[in-house]
Amino acid sequence: MREDFDALAAIGATPEGGVNRPSLGEAHLAARAWFIERAAAAGLETRVDPAGNHSAILPGGGPTLLLGSHLDSVPDGGRYDGALGVVAALHVLLAVQSTGVEPPVTLEAIDFTDEEGTLVGLLGSEALAGKLQSESLQAPRGGREALLAGLERAGLREEELVLARRDPASLHAYLELHIEQGPRLVESGTQIGVVTGIVGARSFSLAFRGRAGHAGTTPMGARRDAGLAAAAFVVAANELVVRDFPDCVATVGDLRFEPGAFNVVPGSARVAVEFRSLESAQLDALESALLREADTAAAAYALGVEATPVGRWEPTPLDPGVQAAIERAAAGLGLSSAPLPSGAGHDAQALAAVVPSGMIFVPSTGGVSHDAREHTPWEDCANGANTLLRAALDYAAVGP
Ligand SMILES: [Zn+2]
Repeated sequence: MREDFDALAAIGATPEGGVNRPSLGEAHLAARAWFIERAAAAGLETRVDPAGNHSAILPGGGPTLLLGSHLDSVPDGGRYDGALGVVAALHVLLAVQSTGVEPPVTLEAIDFTDEEGTLVGLLGSEALAGKLQSESLQAPRGGREALLAGLERAGLREEELVLARRDPASLHAYLELHIEQGPRLVESGTQIGVVTGIVGARSFSLAFRGRAGHAGTTPMGARRDAGLAAAAFVVAANELVVRDFPDCVATVGDLRFEPGAFNVVPGSARVAVEFRSLESAQLDALESALLREADTAAAAYALGVEATPVGRWEPTPLDPGVQAAIERAAAGLGLSSAPLPSGAGHDAQALAAVVPSGMIFVPSTGGVSHDAREHTPWEDCANGANTLLRAALDYAAVGP
């Protein structure tokens, strides 16, 4: 498993030690090709569905137990996020295959398309779950042009993406191994995290509209500077969350001024804001409060502001039966485990709506993720893979 993990980490490797594999870019497509070749060489069946999800399959006596994660990364991301789960899933199949015994369910290791949202976010898993909305394709987070270019590179057709939907009756469960991406397991000295649920997230694009002007001849008092309002919003949003929403997080991850030059007062400014919580009611309250802050910032500089919703993911509780199987698996291996929520989004949140789903977390050194410094000691990676194997066999036998 380690050899395969290292081989994969070399695809799209960055000088800093991470990987740069944005969804449906050349490096991502190369990683997916590696996965299919590796599976085929081991005698597993392979499949690529209309949403580009790549699978290795070990046929068994019942519906499909999906084991998955993703091979795409954020730009200049780490080598563990997603890839660990796919390699571990593949090795669960190889371990079962090596026994020569037909499993009671069909085992499928799956690499979902565009988990990270470079293009749309959870594109492959939502398509498989039958939840892919045409609005998210029409106004994708990464822009329409990038989506169309990516689909073309991958040989996918937009109108066929929804054909990836699977009949829920054909699915037994979904299990995913992933790094925690936060500090809690390391801080508590726990080896395995049993994920209880995934936070919901919403994102908005805010457009502050003012008036562009000559930077030398427009008096300070006569300006309608969109950049000022955007900057005021960035600071106010942060203060709001720290003060009134201690269980939430909000982030302005992108800020663009138009036309964008030293000598022009910004005529418009675009702000990308995203916020997360485990509770829907908190998301509602935070959304209203943030949009009020945007109005206040715009009014303070005599501007207009438009808010466009870009993404919306509801908080997702994970299946108690699958959680119990993960707990038993860890205990059977003599590993310590603890329940914890996920602050990051995952494909499991799309699948949980149609099939019992669960996630296993392993410690992230320093809680670092989405960065080349992302690291999990190999012993923890192996612990996670063994827990995945045991939990999969346990849940396959016990059933829902
Ligand atoms: Zn991930």
